[in-house]
Amino acid sequence: MSGVAVAPERVRLGGLTTLKVGGPAELWTVGNEADLREATAEPFFVLGAGSNLLVSDAGVAERVVRLGQPYATLAAFDGSADVWLGAATPLPGLVRRAQRAGLSGLEGLLGVPAQLGGAVAMNAGTRFGSLSDTLVEAEMMVSGDLVRLPADALGLRYRHSELPPGAVLTRVRLRLSASTPERVAAAMTGVDAARKGQPKIKSAGCAFKNPAGESAGRLIDRAGCKGLRVGDAMIAHEHGNFVINLGAATSRDVDELLEAVQGRVSVALDLEWRRWGGPDGEPPQPGWRARAQRVEG
Ligand SMILES: Cc1cc2nc3c(=O)[nH]c(=O)nc-3n(C[C@H](O)[C@H](O)[C@H](O)COP(=O)(O)OP(=O)(O)OC[C@H]3O[C@@H](n4cnc5c(N)ncnc54)[C@H](O)[C@@H]3O)c2cc1C
Repeated sequence: MSGVAVAPERVRLGGLTTLKVGGPAELWTVGNEADLREATAEPFFVLGAGSNLLVSDAGVAERVVRLGQPYATLAAFDGSADVWLGAATPLPGLVRRAQRAGLSGLEGLLGVPAQLGGAVAMNAGTRFGSLSDTLVEAEMMVSGDLVRLPADALGLRYRHSELPPGAVLTRVRLRLSASTPERVAAAMTGVDAARKGQPKIKSAGCAFKNPAGESAGRLIDRAGCKGLRVGDAMIAHEHGNFVINLGAATSRDVDELLEAVQGRVSVALDLEWRRWGGPDGEPPQPGWRARAQRVEG
């Protein structure tokens, strides 16, 4: 008996990301808090749906921790407006379920291919709304302790959060508002229409954040970068802020392409993607401890 409850697997991270780029790592899929505590006892990254990641071809030496099925609790969503959901709950399914239940608040997230935890970590959204519009509080494991923090302690702003260092979100509490299925569906039509121009090929969504008052996609387009290609990584013709993988793109292709874009656009652009296998740059939030509420688990 080794005492190890979780059996880590050796995987290629490219198989777990939407961009399909990234080398080997040790994947720890956890089904409960004890597993999670064990998996996070050594340096790690947390993987959600892998839809906002650029992972190095060399992979990562850190463990990659993924929440298993017990944290995907869409089936338990009974249509209540005030609801706790597991952080591995798929956002697209939740958005649809909320619409059918006549609950408003998530329609702006239609088409965002995230897990709920990843959507909080990135404060995912569109111009029609963000995850932070409905988030009340979140439960997370930090250094082996399960704690709760209110939404306003998470530093959520445009595609940004300030979770405590090493936090793994486990459950999320949302507050939706009463509407009707028809009204929510009508609101989604506009969101859906705005998405029509996005490419359907493998990508990781928008590569860069929009600079204040500007659209990164438009700046990239104006700089003549659409169709720019390095290896199998290309700036999509449909949308300047989408890097697509034409088949066998490597992280090196993607990095060189991003650099080429940055060299042509006059404004400095910040990467929206999280990069693994390089500095992740997730900033620590000093004040979180004072506001954390301990959860027994
Ligand atoms: C086709 C396409 C369209 C997209 N459109 C949009 C859009 O309109 N708006 C938008 O905002 N984004 C969009 N994205 C980007 C992406 O869907 C979001 O950033 C999403 O929030 C990422 O969630 P994820 O679960 O995939 O997280 P991942 O990509 O797996 O991880 C992203 C970050 O979240 C962290 N994370 C994930 N789960 C947890 C957890 N449980 N606890 C703590 N940290 C965690 C990871 O460590 C990482 O730092 C799009 C992506 C694609 C591929």
